[in-house]
Amino acid sequence: MERCPVCNARYAGNRQCHRCKADIGMLADIEEAADSFRQKAVDAYYAADYPLMLDHARRSCSLRKTSDAVWLMACAAFLTRRFDMALRLRNSMANNQSWTMERVNAKSCNHP
Ligand SMILES: [Zn+2]
Repeated sequence: MERCPVCNARYAGNRQCHRCKADIGMLADIEEAADSFRQKAVDAYYAADYPLMLDHARRSCSLRKTSDAVWLMACAAFLTRRFDMALRLRNSMANNQSWTMERVNAKSCNHP
């Protein structure tokens, strides 16, 4: 979370917005849980436990649906031979122009 969803103030890492005093701690907890499941999915990938990778990637994606979370879940679906799910996720990414540009920009940053 980069900004308060209530007033759009910059998120400073506190559980309460510094401007509007909204309680945003629960949202931060959800993002932290999503990041934790995403890391567990990556760990499962390196352990070659692809069903576990898919389980963690699905949980991460259900908590916070970012392009990276969808991409990770699509990879996990592919590795577990769930080709229908992998294709559906890939198509959902292709249909979301902002996600596509996000990935293109990320690749540009990695490969100058
Ligand atoms: Zn606020």
